[in-house]
Amino acid sequence: MEEFVREETSLCPSARPELADSVVFGVISGTVKQAHVAYLKQPQPMTDELIAKVSPVTPAEVFRVAAPCANSGCQHFNGKDCGLVMRVLEKMPAVTDKLPPCSIRRDCRWWQQESKAACIRCPQIITDNYNPSEFIREVATPTGA
Ligand code: SF4
Ligand code: SF4
Repeated sequence: MEEFVREETSLCPSARPELADSVVFGVISGTVKQAHVAYLKQPQPMTDELIAKVSPVTPAEVFRVAAPCANSGCQHFNGKDCGLVMRVLEKMPAVTDKLPPCSIRRDCRWWQQESKAACIRCPQIITDNYNPSEFIREVATPTGA
C-alpha cells in the first residue's frame, strides 16, 4: 500500500482572507482596544458567503485567517524566520498562561518558530485593525520599513 506523505506547509496565522487556500480559525470578539479571539473547533474555508455575512466590515477585522506562509514573498520574512511573530513576542504582553485551544497549531508557523510564547500572545491579534494604536502599528511594521 502506498504511504500517504503529508506535504509540509506552514500556515501563517495572520493571513489575508483574500489569499487562496485561506481558512478561518478564529472569530474576534471584545473591543478594538481589548480584542479576544474565540478559536474554532475546526478551521472553515473562507467563502464568499462568509465575506458577505460580515460586510461592510472586512473579514480580517472579525476573523483570524490562516493561509500558507509566503516565506520570501512576505515583507515580514527575514530570510529564515517570521519577523512579525518575533515583534509580537518582543512588544506584546501575554494575555493568557494556557495554550489557547487552537485547531491549526500543528501547522502554525508561529507555533513552530516560537512555541508557547507565541500562543499566549495570539488571542489579542486582529489582522485588520483600522484604529490601531501606535503600539500595534509599531509591532506590525517590518524593521527597516
Ligand atoms: S513570514 Fe510570518 S507574517 Fe509572513 S506569511 Fe509567513 S508567518 Fe505570515
Ligand atoms: S500562535 Fe498558537 S494560538 Fe496562534 S494561531 Fe498559532 S498555534 Fe494557534
